[in-house]
Amino acid sequence: MYDWSWHKRAIESIAHGALTNSKRPESLVKGVYPTHLKRGEGSYVWDVRGRRYTDYICGLGANLLGYANPEVTEAIIKRARDGASLSLATDLEVETAEKVKELFPYIERLRFLKTGTDACNAAVRIARSVSGRQLIASEGYHGWGDEFVSLSQPALGVPPQQNISKLDINEIHKTPHAAVIVEPIITDATQDRIEWLRELRKACSSTGTLLIFDEVITGFRYPKFSVSNYHGIEPDLICLGKAMGNGMPISVVAGKDKIMNCGEWFVSSTFAGETLSLAAALKTMTLLQKKYDLTKLWESGNSFLSKFNGLWPEKIWIEGYATRGAFRGDPFLRALFFQEACKAGYLFGPSWFFNFPHMDLIDNTIGICSDIIGKLKTGSVQLEGEMPKSPFAQKMREK
Ligand code: PMP
Repeated sequence: MYDWSWHKRAIESIAHGALTNSKRPESLVKGVYPTHLKRGEGSYVWDVRGRRYTDYICGLGANLLGYANPEVTEAIIKRARDGASLSLATDLEVETAEKVKELFPYIERLRFLKTGTDACNAAVRIARSVSGRQLIASEGYHGWGDEFVSLSQPALGVPPQQNISKLDINEIHKTPHAAVIVEPIITDATQDRIEWLRELRKACSSTGTLLIFDEVITGFRYPKFSVSNYHGIEPDLICLGKAMGNGMPISVVAGKDKIMNCGEWFVSSTFAGETLSLAAALKTMTLLQKKYDLTKLWESGNSFLSKFNGLWPEKIWIEGYATRGAFRGDPFLRALFFQEACKAGYLFGPSWFFNFPHMDLIDNTIGICSDIIGKLKTGSVQLEGEMPKSPFAQKMREK
């Protein structure tokens, strides 16, 4: 019997039954996937019934070093003993800011916030304040701020008049824009996309438009820590989040001094300097410098991708780069694949992430995926749950 007990309780107290859109049962194969988890360690999660899964959803990309990484956990516990939100600025925020600057040489000033949404909203506000212009052009998903949500109807509760549109480079040349905000790489990491980013950089520079890279996902998932560092394309502002605190809530908006310190734009939060997340971020960044090699993770993730994409290339594949991708292909077969993987103890979702603890599991996972795809090819597998519905973020990206 499928266990609905926690879901039934959840819908009695939590609006829509879940806190994060893409964690709703409807986003996965409802009726087959577990609805509630209890804990995670390394690349594994356990559901409320104690069943273990190898997890490729990875907390939506947050757990780069794996769940409950011992060194990050230790840093959090140590700081928790000293209190989490102190009355004045802390030593730790200065140290952590200095560490971000070590990893991103073009960053001169930054602010810490909590979520990717915070960072993107702040970036847009700073851009308007610096440029004195209003219009924003956007591509990709940038969180749940009014303006970004206004781009996808019905946008309930969002005022209709927003100074934002979907990115069209020609428009940047015709009408003065405050900023362009893009996810530099969503799943297309081809040379063409990199060339397009260079063109975009030029178009922004020649029109006085600020270029904002939303690296909330790509940040810390690329060799040299970001798309901007790796390909040598400097945005005017960068947003970071997700993997930065290895699961703890922390984000960054950052840029050059003349932009970040231009005028008294107002962005401020009680919890911006909360020390447990700062301790997690400082430890995560230090480990990425000294112990965990993103280049090796890339080699390994690429090996996973090429093996997986060889299994049934015309029907189901992952499009993306070594540490992050999206499942593509026949939607029904994809749902069947997710279902069978889940039954075999593997959690896959629309977005695929590859973390350090997955490096040792490639052959096992590919072996299981190969068995499942073999079964799907016989045409005998039935869908036991519901077809997944596309979460909002995916709709924004696919438009
Ligand atoms: N930008 C990007 C590229 C994202 O993927 C997300 C989250 N999926 C956000 C911004 C918003 O981040 P958060 O959910 O932490 O508010």
